[in-house]
Amino acid sequence: MALDVAWALAWVRRTAEVVAEHKVELSELDREIGDGDHGENMNRGFVAVVGKLDALEAPPAQVADVLKLVATTLMSTVGGAAGPLYGTAYLRAAKVTGLESLDASAAVAMLEAALEGIVARGKATTGEKTMVDAWTPATTAAQEVAGNGSSPADVLAAAAAAAEDGAEATIPLVATKGRASYLGERSAGHKDPGATSTAYILRAAADTAAGV
Ligand code: ADP
Ligand code: MG
Repeated sequence: MALDVAWALAWVRRTAEVVAEHKVELSELDREIGDGDHGENMNRGFVAVVGKLDALEAPPAQVADVLKLVATTLMSTVGGAAGPLYGTAYLRAAKVTGLESLDASAAVAMLEAALEGIVARGKATTGEKTMVDAWTPATTAAQEVAGNGSSPADVLAAAAAAAEDGAEATIPLVATKGRASYLGERSAGHKDPGATSTAYILRAAADTAAGV
């Protein structure tokens, strides 16, 4: 489907479903190297997002309106590190999606803006075992695929696949940002929860764009 407001709504609702399905897994990953709340945090946020969407009197007009609603809701309900990080990501993404429907380069710009927001907020770089290790390869893959003249849905599919690989690749890393960094070397051997939730969010984006 075109990356229009209907897609944005479908993406967000799909994300809420996937986060709910994987709530226990995300918290278990966070229990290994953090405080065990990432699944609960994300699920609380996306349940609140769906509640706000259901309560709207008029449907949002643009993709940006949907992303802004997600941003403000996550910021006020998720808490922890992930709330402000994802909130900033969706807010920055909203700023670059002022069109009725995103073409491939606008889809890339949305991912770039989200990553920039996360980095501005959390000051992590790649290799520190955070969600940046999923967002960075996702954005790079999206840029490459868009440069080859691919469709917006293909851009999101490439981003999702790269985010999944990036999340897997956090397993051997030693955390140097966030709560997991308190464990030092003992953080190695575990998958980062935030990189994992990022992969689910981007897979939801790709699947809804592909009509799956
Ligand atoms: P908290 O660590 O406060 O309990 P969550 O458990 O909800 O928050 O989220 C943890 C995730 O946040 C980590 O798995 C990691 O991906 C991400 N994270 C933590 N600190 C940073 C940071 N500085 N930059 C980017 N991501 C971070
Ligand atoms: Mg936590």
